[in-house]
Amino acid sequence: MKYRKLGRTNINVSEVSIGCEGLIDKSDEQVQHFVDKARNMGVNFIDFYSSNPQARSAFGKAIKDHRDDWVIEGHLCSVWKNDQYLRTRKIDEVKAGFEDLLERLKTDYVDVGMIHYVDSQEDFDEVFTGEVIAYALELKKQGKIKHIGLSSHNPMIARKAIETGLIDVLLFSINPCYDMLPASENVDDLWADENYEKPLTNIDSDRQALYELCERENVAITVMKAFGGGDLLDAQLSPFGVSMTPLQCIHYCLTRPGVVSVMAGAHTIEELQLSTFYSDATNEEKDYAPILAHVPKHSFIGNCVYCGHCAPCVKGIDVASVNKFTDLCIAQGMIPETVREHYKLLAHHASECIACGSCVHNCPFQVDIISKMKKAVEIFGY
Ligand code: SF4
Ligand code: SF4
Repeated sequence: MKYRKLGRTNINVSEVSIGCEGLIDKSDEQVQHFVDKARNMGVNFIDFYSSNPQARSAFGKAIKDHRDDWVIEGHLCSVWKNDQYLRTRKIDEVKAGFEDLLERLKTDYVDVGMIHYVDSQEDFDEVFTGEVIAYALELKKQGKIKHIGLSSHNPMIARKAIETGLIDVLLFSINPCYDMLPASENVDDLWADENYEKPLTNIDSDRQALYELCERENVAITVMKAFGGGDLLDAQLSPFGVSMTPLQCIHYCLTRPGVVSVMAGAHTIEELQLSTFYSDATNEEKDYAPILAHVPKHSFIGNCVYCGHCAPCVKGIDVASVNKFTDLCIAQGMIPETVREHYKLLAHHASECIACGSCVHNCPFQVDIISKMKKAVEIFGY
């Protein structure tokens, strides 16, 4: 397993992590087995919205002797009521729900207190001008949450949240299908078939801008819905009409700017294994470019998606990284210091490009790589 820094926190998390799906409808013994296996695979990061109480208690029991081995993203504002999960902004319910989470997990803190599911402007206003954000800040002061996070499906709202400066971690729905759709306050738009019937081209600019903002501000993105609820793994169900593998979906997410970890929606150990194999997979096994280059009706053309399919460069240049750093500077209109440092650390730089065109031939998305290398030299100076 490989690990990445969770943005501006000092926490390292596994690139492949888990949601709480795998714990639901299992006995305590089965949860213990699942958690132990996940830990043995190197997984150290879990997202907990308010699943059924039994699953949370079973997880607490399973980690009681090694709490510190786990990084927990625990949701605020999601509660269990009348035998079902509910989102709430009523502060009494929010407080009771969080205290219940701590008690069931047998811990006195969670690493990230995740403000749950903010997709509309009205809800954003209620959360950020009202009692919820005040409560999150109070919890942080008390050490009951180490960092504040927010989950969303709407790139416009997520950006506003990041711009408050209060959010260290964003849980966001990312996969190549959702990335083509414009922002919406209605999450159902992400999986409505009719939204994929018209021709769609390239990653939506608001989504791209969100990822670039997070990378610049060092806000960690953790990913939900990487497989589109499983639809992307099935040619019959995928809006693209072709199936992707779990490794290709994970690699797509982990090559977006700002992304540090993908919450694999694994219900079984076998499903989790398919995802954790990511760390040992070959570039060919992870490569999503051949799939995205041929999806019927939709196209990713002319813009770099940072897939790395054009490698190897004859001069050893990491074209995907050079393009990513260049795009971050163009989006910002300046060179952020962290990007300058990351560029400097590359083994080879754009100025070494001899315009041989070999990578251009390999890029399935018709990116004008030679011009991109020249642009990088213009920006970074070498
Ligand atoms: S230039 Fe093309 S092949 Fe290379 S990383 Fe970008 S999109 Fe992928
Ligand atoms: S055109 Fe430049 S970046 Fe592409 S393979 Fe040749 S030297 Fe490398």
